[in-house]
Amino acid sequence: MKYLKVKNKKYKLPIFCPDATRAVVRSVDTKDLINVGIDGVCVNTLHLIHDPGKAVLKKFGGVRKFMDFPGLIISDSGGFQVFSLIYARGKKKGGRVIDDGAIFYTGGLKKPVKNLLTPEKSIQMQFEIGSDIMICLDDCPSSNISEKQNKTSVERTISWARRCEIEFEKQISLRHLPIIKRPLLFGVVQGGDNKDLREFCLSELLKIGFDGYGMGGWVPNAGNPLQVDLIKWLAKIIPDKYYKYGLGIGKLEDLIVFTKAGYQIYDCVLPTRDARHQRLYEIKKPLKNLIGARVPKSFFRYLYINKQKHQKENKPISKYCDCLVCKNYSRAYLNHLFKLNEPLAMRLATIHNLRIYAMVIRQLRKEVK
Ligand SMILES: [Zn+2]
Repeated sequence: MKYLKVKNKKYKLPIFCPDATRAVVRSVDTKDLINVGIDGVCVNTLHLIHDPGKAVLKKFGGVRKFMDFPGLIISDSGGFQVFSLIYARGKKKGGRVIDDGAIFYTGGLKKPVKNLLTPEKSIQMQFEIGSDIMICLDDCPSSNISEKQNKTSVERTISWARRCEIEFEKQISLRHLPIIKRPLLFGVVQGGDNKDLREFCLSELLKIGFDGYGMGGWVPNAGNPLQVDLIKWLAKIIPDKYYKYGLGIGKLEDLIVFTKAGYQIYDCVLPTRDARHQRLYEIKKPLKNLIGARVPKSFFRYLYINKQKHQKENKPISKYCDCLVCKNYSRAYLNHLFKLNEPLAMRLATIHNLRIYAMVIRQLRKEVK
């Protein structure tokens, strides 16, 4: 598929959406995003429930107007937080998962406030967010679980997906949404590294029927050959008439590996987080033949701008980048701004890293068959 079509708009594929977890891509504003060629963002349902909350978003008619972003808006369901806030922290600390939904503890360990996120609540909130792509709440487990736990997580994911789909249709009808205002709903395939469970999960989700499918679980990483094999295999068994979403992907080289495998939609926190941690991307040569390259990583290197060697360096971060930073400022100036802890450093570094992602995506659009 060359385009993602939703709410009477068309977006070129593949598409990369930086994470705007709390309705902001940290350090930059939406005009910066548009100027660097970012076509979409990914917000987080669970975080937006707490801040700014449902009432505020309702007043604005959704997050698009609230943050003034005209592009594609994806809302993550809160499923990944089942992993990061509950499983990864240990059961008693972050919350617990029951068949009805996920209970998140907020307000500290001594007096925890229990907030239950059900599949229905997640979908209702995603309608208040007004996103173009909504994601089903899933039970996203840790990678080191037993077969039994894996099976439970898959069963729960399927049952929650079914409830999400029912709530989705209910909201469409309650809100009298015509076809041109209808968002898309994606299912998440769980099953860890067990291909039989993954296949079972996908086949059950296909029976329910979604617009697209994503691979859930730990964040895949092109540096791990087993994960690459699994994610490639999954792309093959998802029928081509559906959108294929690489949830949480990824590193620059991952965009290439997974686009080659058949995925078209990505979201990740990495380019902006790297920028804040002074890790920038230096393109080594003009971008071409990315998909055909033997080593997908060979076109760029990491540049750690805090290093002493950049202190007097009067050249851009990357001579093959056309962003406002590379056109106007030297490595020495950026090194200086970071040393001062100047907020401008974060903004410039983020603009540069996102521009590199946008350039890679633009090149992949040319190359993908
Ligand atoms: Zn640049």
